[in-house]
Amino acid sequence: MLLDDIKPLTRAPLVDPFGRDISYLRISVTDRCDFRCVYCMSEDMTFLPKRDLLTLEEIDRVATAFVARGTRKLRLTGGEPLVRRDVMSLFRSLSRHITSGALDELTLTTNGSLLDRYASELAGYGVRRINVSLDTLDPDKFRKITRWGDLDKVLGGIEAARKAGIRVKINAVALKGVNEDEIEDLMVWAHGLGMDLTLIEVMPMGEIEPGRIDQFLPLSIVRARLMDKYSLVDDPYRTGGPARYVRVKETGGLVGFITPMTHNFCESCNRVRLTCTGTLYMCLGQEDAADLRAAIRASSDDALLHRAMEEAISRKPKGHDFVIDRRRSRPAVGRHMSVTGG
Ligand code: SAM
Repeated sequence: MLLDDIKPLTRAPLVDPFGRDISYLRISVTDRCDFRCVYCMSEDMTFLPKRDLLTLEEIDRVATAFVARGTRKLRLTGGEPLVRRDVMSLFRSLSRHITSGALDELTLTTNGSLLDRYASELAGYGVRRINVSLDTLDPDKFRKITRWGDLDKVLGGIEAARKAGIRVKINAVALKGVNEDEIEDLMVWAHGLGMDLTLIEVMPMGEIEPGRIDQFLPLSIVRARLMDKYSLVDDPYRTGGPARYVRVKETGGLVGFITPMTHNFCESCNRVRLTCTGTLYMCLGQEDAADLRAAIRASSDDALLHRAMEEAISRKPKGHDFVIDRRRSRPAVGRHMSVTGG
């Protein structure tokens, strides 16, 4: 039984030392995934013991405390959020904040493998837009990138989401020598189905087997190549995230660029990230964190939790300093993206 009847009390909004309103919480509901994307995880990942995870009720409690402090957007991610057992009950309970108007958006980032099963239920819980990660339309390449994935399942999932009335945005990590020759095809395909495409530079997070210097493809190059063939017009569209968009005149669709490596996007950062063990990271690219699990388990009253949240936000850094270069053999951040929630 989740906490459907507990409504957030309105409290002072969370504002960080740089005057940024914290209005966006991303929650990694599990570190597990049914894929092993080569830039994200090593093949033999060790996952956390289940007892270390927050329960779904505890996740709801923390999310609700953030909603009370001005969070307007919640994104569930992972790992793969849809592999967490009973995750639909969490969507169901969080949907009360959409119904009450306290929350503008409840959404998720998914690899799409289980979307065919869950799309209509998600739509019923007020999920209106989702991000689906997809780096290639070539089934063999898809299998190589994800190690374990089945492209047809993902395409079927995207179709199911669209049929359920959910707007899908495709996220693709640009990988040197892997999908760089396919970015145009991905764009034409996505725009042909009315979906926007966001491209992401690979970030140095967690140890993986091949070096990231070999995978890193600056989006400035991708953009220049697209401009050889298409008219890209800067577009003011913003989702509150780090992407900067262009409208492609020939297709009518948007392409977003997330460029943490070549262009820092921190000045407007409004987000914090909760891991599945209740650790709050104030910045994707820094190690500093706060333990909210201790705060919620120490007392059933939320006073301690709110104090821990305030204290954490008072330490939110100005920005990250990712670097990928040949002199650094270690990633800038030791944890994998699947831990913090990409
Ligand atoms: N399983 C879900 C998915 O596939 O979207 C959610 C979690 S996944 C970690 C979120 C996003 O992070 C995916 O789009 C993935 O491609 C991206 N990602 C993972 N590792 C990354 C890295 N090192 N650099 C850039 N993006 C990364």
